[in-house]
Amino acid sequence: MRIARLVLFDIDGTLLSSGRRGLGAFSEAMRRTFGTDGGIETYRFEGKLDPVIVADLMRGAGIPDDVVAARRPAALELYLDLLEEALAEEPPKLKPGVADLVERVSSSPAAVPALLTGNVQRGARIKLSAAGIWDRFRFGVFGDEASRRVDLGPIALTRALERTGRAFSPAETVVVGDALADVECGKAIGARVVAVATGRTTAEELRAAGADVVFPSFADVASACEAILA
Ligand SMILES: [Mg+2]
Repeated sequence: MRIARLVLFDIDGTLLSSGRRGLGAFSEAMRRTFGTDGGIETYRFEGKLDPVIVADLMRGAGIPDDVVAARRPAALELYLDLLEEALAEEPPKLKPGVADLVERVSSSPAAVPALLTGNVQRGARIKLSAAGIWDRFRFGVFGDEASRRVDLGPIALTRALERTGRAFSPAETVVVGDALADVECGKAIGARVVAVATGRTTAEELRAAGADVVFPSFADVASACEAILA
């Protein structure tokens, strides 16, 4: 019998890319809400939580904290409305091998595929629905549930128990991601980290950060699946 696995997937850079359309929706929502996008073009998004990205950008642009706090919920809702429209026109592209990999993991009787992402829940649903894989995941932990990504890991373990009735040990848990923050988050709960260099972080950087296995992409689906379920 296979050993049970809780598999926590990051979204952006790992499963898919929303490309310029995602960035454009974010930028427009910030400009309409705060009058500036805070220099979004040079901001490093990867591994960060969406509500924190708004606060970082707007603080950097000199918007007072109380204004940021008051307008952030509306800014995020507007971003999601614009994102939904944009992705309906042009769906996000799944990264190489991802469709097959997610299918294999979700059909493995031993595995519980779930999400651990900086997207807020509606954002995750918009992106993954547009890409046709939202229903493959049993549950998720999202960017508005903590202020740091590393704090999402323990929530994922608790939620896995609530949703499946099974307590997953760290050794039975795998974090799959493309950013240094994913590696840090996985290590913090003692999980194995399977990293993929399809985002903006190189394989060398991911390895140096302590990822247990690093793939250039998931194009070699059989190897990726073996590493995740091993
Ligand atoms: Mg990512």
